[in-house]
Amino acid sequence: MLKDRFGRKHNYLRISVTNLCNLKCVYCMPDEILSGRAENKYMSVSEIYEIAKVFTDLGINKIRITGGEPFVRKEIAAIFTKLSDLPVTLAVSTNALLIDRYTELLKNCGVKNINVSLDTLNPEEFSSITKSNTLEKIFSNIILLLENDFRVKINFVVMKGINENAVIEAAGLTKNFGVEVRFIEYMPFKGNKWSAGKVYSHDEILENIRSKYNIYKIPDEPNDTSKKYGINGHAGNIGIISTITKPFCGGCNRLRLTADGKLKNCLFSKGETDLLSAYRKGEEIKQLIISGLSEKEFERGGQFESGKIENRSMVNIGG
Ligand code: SAM
Ligand code: SF4
Repeated sequence: MLKDRFGRKHNYLRISVTNLCNLKCVYCMPDEILSGRAENKYMSVSEIYEIAKVFTDLGINKIRITGGEPFVRKEIAAIFTKLSDLPVTLAVSTNALLIDRYTELLKNCGVKNINVSLDTLNPEEFSSITKSNTLEKIFSNIILLLENDFRVKINFVVMKGINENAVIEAAGLTKNFGVEVRFIEYMPFKGNKWSAGKVYSHDEILENIRSKYNIYKIPDEPNDTSKKYGINGHAGNIGIISTITKPFCGGCNRLRLTADGKLKNCLFSKGETDLLSAYRKGEEIKQLIISGLSEKEFERGGQFESGKIENRSMVNIGG
């Protein structure tokens, strides 16, 4: 079992399979246009599988596929199919724009948990946040996922002055749908125009929802990043991910593998461990994973105290 120096057991790996995306969410995608992937720079399907296998030998039993947008990668079906051979629970984070083409594949690969980004239900606001007119398609794909019995969580990044007015409507989705709508505090990454003044906090989100609904605390799951609340009479529930105002690093069990094969021991880590280069040279990567984890800081990559955060852009990490 992988343990860090604070005794935290790590059994969850998030693998990014691409840094490309078919949306351009303002809080995620930096201004510089990402070019197509340089041949050879990114993990191939078999490299993803072989590297993931080493992680499972070390006790990883949950893998989430992320990106960029995972479903823009042309080999995505092969990636899921290969990984479904491993003894892990497979999950995916997606903007859901293309997911109607893949529901059968996901079922066949045993994927049940799907997180979908959706930051407003207002079409104009959606266009201005994502630079696309795809709200209708994405919403109908979310319904399709629910009809097919996937467990869906909706990820809503709340930005002050941009979409906090859409919080109540999104929370209202839990009335008839058995979804968890998770409101996420806006986090800083390279090139994403973050400022402390744009953070709409956990307490503000709660107060906003309370102005319309009777909400009550429900138990959080072990290692969960969100603080969960129920709404009287609703089928689903809400969650709040409060990385900025109430960090929750004490129960962290996550590691990240970027599309170019670097291990990040935290979403906010400055340091990275180059697993892909070592793997290609035929070197043993088990020890590299263990030592990469041993450098993990207790909270948010140890970077927030200084106020100067060195990191990649979110789309280059894999959220
Ligand atoms: N394209 C997929 C999607 O949108 O779900 C997967 C990748 S995306 C980077 C993963 C998650 O990161 C999304 O839920 C997105 O909302 C979240 N995210 C991206 N930038 C963020 C930021 N600055 N603050 C908080 N969450 C962010
Ligand atoms: Fe693409 Fe997801 Fe980032 Fe939006 S949040 S730009 S959908 S990777």
